[in-house]
Amino acid sequence: MNVKSGDFVMPGDVIGVSEQFLPDKLAYDDGGYIKAAVLGTVSIDDFAKTISIIPKSGGPNVLEVGDKVYGQITDLRGQRALVHVQSAQKTSRELAFSYMAAIHISQVKKGYLEKITDAFRIGDIIQATVTKVSKDNLDLSTKNPSDGVLKAICTRCRAYMVKTNNPNELYCEICGRKEKRKVSDQYRC
Ligand SMILES: [Zn+2]
Repeated sequence: MNVKSGDFVMPGDVIGVSEQFLPDKLAYDDGGYIKAAVLGTVSIDDFAKTISIIPKSGGPNVLEVGDKVYGQITDLRGQRALVHVQSAQKTSRELAFSYMAAIHISQVKKGYLEKITDAFRIGDIIQATVTKVSKDNLDLSTKNPSDGVLKAICTRCRAYMVKTNNPNELYCEICGRKEKRKVSDQYRC
């Protein structure tokens, strides 16, 4: 453990052991491990052997369970769609991390989905809800009607596709191709 004064920490991060330091402001002892109670920076008093957290307000934005995020599908691997999260609905500010996110096939829509490519394709712009956060890794769900694909391009001709009467399908006006998606009710075209 090499936490130093000025290090940026998240709530629950281990910042020391009780043999090293006494937890002071906004730090606590959890079974021998000193943890940060809030988002902030570490402050160590080497003389008193105490460790505190200086809370960060107006600092980098951290995502929480229930937040709505926007991102792009970067890969489809077996049961999972990988998402590059670009922004969050709750803030216009930059996010604290370059979040890596995934949507498991069971979290795409209500009911059965045979394969992930029936819901997403690489390059799709999506809206999703955060269901789990572990530091810079997110699990996402698109079961909500407003979640899902916001913008998609035809895999044949790369034109933007339009909504149809079928909520699980998009249509390419250029080449006439139909493709399956988990379409958000906020679809942009
Ligand atoms: Zn097309």
